[in-house]
This record gives sequence, C-alpha cells and structure tokens, in this order.
Amino acid sequence: MNPFPQDRFGRALRSLRLSVTDRCNLRCRYCMPESKYNWLKRNLILSFEELTRLVGLFQQLGVDRLRITGGEPLLRQQLPSLVEQLAALGLKEIALTTNGVLLKKYHRDLFSAGLNRVTVSLDAVDPEIFRGISQRDNLSEVLEGLKAVAHSPGLKIDSVVMKGVNDCQLLPLLRLGREIGAEVRFIEYMDVGGATQWEPEKVLSQDEILGLLEEEYGQVEPLEGRGSAPAQRFQLPDGQTFGIIASTTRPFCSDCDRARVTADGQLLTCLYSRTGMDLRKLLRSDLSDQDILERLQTRWSGRSDRGAEQRLQIEKRGPLAKAQELQENVHLEMHTRGG
Ligand code: SAM
Ligand code: SF4
Ligand code: SF4
Repeated sequence: MNPFPQDRFGRALRSLRLSVTDRCNLRCRYCMPESKYNWLKRNLILSFEELTRLVGLFQQLGVDRLRITGGEPLLRQQLPSLVEQLAALGLKEIALTTNGVLLKKYHRDLFSAGLNRVTVSLDAVDPEIFRGISQRDNLSEVLEGLKAVAHSPGLKIDSVVMKGVNDCQLLPLLRLGREIGAEVRFIEYMDVGGATQWEPEKVLSQDEILGLLEEEYGQVEPLEGRGSAPAQRFQLPDGQTFGIIASTTRPFCSDCDRARVTADGQLLTCLYSRTGMDLRKLLRSDLSDQDILERLQTRWSGRSDRGAEQRLQIEKRGPLAKAQELQENVHLEMHTRGG
C-alpha cells in the first residue's frame, strides 16, 4: 500500500487540524449562539500521549502541517507541554488558532515549547461590536494578547464577516494588522454545524468585501501562488497584503488536503461530514501502530468529500443542522470539530 495515500480525487493528506478541547470562553454568534451546550465527557478526551501518537501516525501518511484548535485551545490544561511533545515529532509546522483571550498568559511558554505561529480570531476592534458578536467582554484581553505576539512570524488575524454586523470593521482590522505585523484574512460566514442563525443574506461575499475595500483604497490586486491554502491573497495599493477565505461562495474543495480530529478522537475528512471515524476506539484497543495506519490509509483513500461545493448547489440554503440535532450529536458542532 502506498504510504502517502491520495483520495478519490487525487488529493494528498498534508494538513491536520487537531482540536484539543470543545470548551470555549466566548460564544460567537456564528459558532455558539445557543444558551445551552452538551460537552464531550472528560474520560473520552484524548490524553497528550494519545494525541502525540496519533499525530505521529498522520505524519507517516504525509501530514507535515499541524494546527491546534478547539473550542478554545488555550483552555486545555498544560497546552505547552502537549506542544513540546508534538514538536519532538519534527513536523514542518505547528500552528495555533485561538480567540486570543488567554494568549498574553501563554504565548511565551507556547513558543518556547516549539509552536511556530499563531492565528488569532478577531471579528471587531470596536468594543460594542465585539461584545455583540462574542457575547463576552474580552476585547481588551484579545488586543493585549495580539500585542504580545506582534510581529511574530506568520501571525494572522482571522475575521468572520457578517453583513450589517461587522462589515464596518474591515478597515479598522486592516489597520490593526498593519500596526502589529499580522496578515488579516476575512472569512465568509459559513453554514457549518453550530451556525444555527446562518442565512444567505448575512454572508458578505468575497466580491462584496473586495468592493468595499476598493472604494477606500483603489485597485486591489490578487496575488499568485495560493496552492492548497484556503485563502486567496490580495495586495492593497500601499503594499499591505490580506486574504479572503471564500468557503461559502467560492469553495476550494478540489485542493483540500486537510483532515480534522476532535478532542475525543473522531476523524472528520470534511468540515461538513455528518459522520466520522472513531480513532479513540482504535487507540484504546490493542491494535499496533501498523494496524491503525492501515485503517487511516484506507479511510483517506476512500475519501470523496467536497462538502462546501455540494452546499453551493443547494437552492434554498440554510444552516447545516438545527439546534436539536446539534444537541444530540455534538460532533456536528464547529466548536467540536475545530474550524
Ligand atoms: N476558538 C478558536 C478561535 O475562535 O480561533 C478556535 C476554534 S474556532 C471554531 C476556529 C475558526 O472557525 C475561527 O476562526 C472562527 O472564526 C471560525 N468559524 C467558526 N464558525 C464559523 C462560521 N460559521 N463561519 C466561518 N468561520 C467560522
Ligand atoms: Fe468563537 Fe472560536 Fe469559541 Fe467558536 S470556538 S465560539 S469561533 S471563540
Ligand atoms: Fe475540504 Fe470539506 Fe472544506 Fe471542501 S468543505 S475544503 S472538502 S473540508
């Protein structure tokens, strides 16, 4: 069997998003808008040893880029110690996606442990708008966290843009990015699990984002060389670069080299997958590494996911799942599968 499997559309597996917790200290309206959530049971959450073994197996299948995510990953106790164990595997890159609330506290330990770069999700620099979206009052902590990691290599700010909610924040976010040496990426609002308030009318599309920016700055130039990255990059006339992740209006499934693992070890080969593969069961059995590798290879070789492209074909598009279904199947939630 080929050690580096390709899926049915010839896509290799290069990148893994590892969720280390489903808990979160914010309640972003596009991700966790409900008042009550069911959580993964603690005894089902993978230990650091299990996570490291798993990432090592994915590495043998071709994964060289790892992104630690959640929920809010900085809520996982002793995260720097996990990063240290993962760094010993010798991957090309270990990145973190965080809401930034606890970043000031942990960034030094994380970078010393071997973290290579950070993406901070921030949708507004206006306190009222930040509160309106996140349903929490932590903007100053996020800004302090960003300041603490300013100009670190590969620093990014990811912003989900919603029409009539934070479309007025595009320019202030770009200004913040310029100040702290971060590339801003605007993300189209997606109809993923958890986004129970999603409506097509609330999506600010890539074309609309570019239109708003061109009104202010003049001609915006697209940059070449996207590869399998989710963001299309652009340059403003003053040289500042930024990205747009247009998963809703211009999906990029044909280049998708990503798999996701939830904190309790469900493998999802697409953000829109309805079912996963239970890796925890395999890790906690007496199967050898070789046995598990073979199962992972078979799973990836049989993959034919192109969830976002299929969503595009739905005429009357609404949320992927209703609140009731999410209550019953927490693995459908974006905060469980890691975004
Ligand atoms: N809590 C961390 C954070 O917010 O950065 C990590 C997990 S979060 C699920 C990962 C990313 O998913 C964030 O950048 C978030 O903005 C994005 N996200 C969540 N729901 C989304 C939605 N409905 N549409 C687009 N992006 C979404
Ligand atoms: Fe917001 Fe991330 Fe928490 Fe979802 S997981 S509510 S995107 S901070
Ligand atoms: Fe990949 Fe699925 Fe996202 Fe398409 S929708 S880019 S296949 S994760």
